[in-house]
Amino acid sequence: MVGAGYVGLVSGACFADFGHEVVCVDKDPAKIESLRAGHIPIFEPGLEETVAANVRAGRLSFSTDLAAAVPQADAVFIAVGTPSRRGDGFADLSHVYAAAREIAASLEGYTVVVTKSTVPVGTGDEVDRIIRETRPGAAFSVVSNPEFLREGAAIEDFKRPDRIVIGAEDQRGAELVAELYRPLYLNAAPVLTMGRRTAELTKYAANAFLALKVTFINEIADLCEQVGANVQEVARGIGLDKRIGGKFLHAGPGYGGSCFPKDTLALTKTAQNAGAPLRLVETVVAVNDQRKVAMARKVIAACGGSVRGRTIGVLGLTFKPNTDDMRDAPSLAIVAALQDAGARIRAFDPEGMENAASVLDGVDYTRDAYECAEGADALVLITEWDSFRALDLERLKAAMAGRIVVDLRNVYRPDEMSRRGFAYVSIGRPDTP
Ligand code: NAD
Repeated sequence: MVGAGYVGLVSGACFADFGHEVVCVDKDPAKIESLRAGHIPIFEPGLEETVAANVRAGRLSFSTDLAAAVPQADAVFIAVGTPSRRGDGFADLSHVYAAAREIAASLEGYTVVVTKSTVPVGTGDEVDRIIRETRPGAAFSVVSNPEFLREGAAIEDFKRPDRIVIGAEDQRGAELVAELYRPLYLNAAPVLTMGRRTAELTKYAANAFLALKVTFINEIADLCEQVGANVQEVARGIGLDKRIGGKFLHAGPGYGGSCFPKDTLALTKTAQNAGAPLRLVETVVAVNDQRKVAMARKVIAACGGSVRGRTIGVLGLTFKPNTDDMRDAPSLAIVAALQDAGARIRAFDPEGMENAASVLDGVDYTRDAYECAEGADALVLITEWDSFRALDLERLKAAMAGRIVVDLRNVYRPDEMSRRGFAYVSIGRPDTP
């Protein structure tokens, strides 16, 4: 497993759990050192236990030495990052190609090289070409096996996937990868075998569709606010229709995270280059970008039009609960915009503060939600961690200097909040019943 990040580490640990022998390789020596010492560098529920059990069983190990791990491997997965390329937003494939070159140099015997990273259509062809060029005559297949796990529920998702997508240009490669997932057939996970390019596109199409669903309900929420309707009831009203489905219909501050923003953008670039622009997805990207700043404006409006010199407490910084991942979190844009408008920011997040501290300057980090509320003129709930769902509202109110609560996840009920004396604003719902 090349790359021991969110995807590589989870996939590696789960494959080891299936009984395979796995070496997770990363070029970051600190990460490997920490893993070897038994520390998991990321927060992901259940991961620590799975890693520890498989290390103990001798099936999972960590290394920085790719050249030593590749020769004995039947399959080498590429699970390195594919961030947005600066400037044009296309996927930066430099890590993937670097890994391909390194893998090629050490291949021995027939090996399947599997791209698990999210990569644009045609990347598998290029990986194939790189390996062929680096090692003419090597016996290998390049297979696409995109990953659909969600951070925060990654182990469960890996072990109970809705489907497994295998994109291959030859049967031998496809069969070997399918064999690795055989333990999951017991869970009746459908295995879809398709062409490599089709598999690569399937991953982007899935993420773009989900991003579109989120953006759709966010715009409906804006309309609800203007016309006095309730977006949660609309979402339920449409979501029970099986053709629509209720998932991903929660209005909020806009999607963020390590995947949707970069993948939607990269897909629009692929489509433009291919002469088949995806105008819907282009609009989704633009609407979502604007939404984060609009959320800061919403907070400012709730504070009476200005936050200059005001103290704002922010509950939740990560892009969603149960992860420490801060990549492209909506909080980044919202906090920055509030600071620009002159607000002082206090914040609390159960797992994300260490990562947040490296990207958000000038924030007072606190120990819990109540300390975060201390002296705050307004509280903004950005990430719906479970621990924020049943806060002691009286204690919160006593700690705050003001009464304003802006709930960007619709965790609380407008009627209850106003009954308790808060000036409560949420998303797409009448603020007072
Ligand atoms: P990450 O940044 O957490 O991990 C990537 C790791 O790869 C890093 O530890 C880095 O040091 C290592 N790396 C980079 N180049 C390397 C090389 N040449 N050799 C060895 N190690 C190298 O990234 P991630 O979140 O795990 O994402 C990986 C890929 O999976 C991306 O393409 C992403 O789009 C995709 N993906 C992510 C998720 C998710 O929820 N995070 C879900 C599905 C798919």
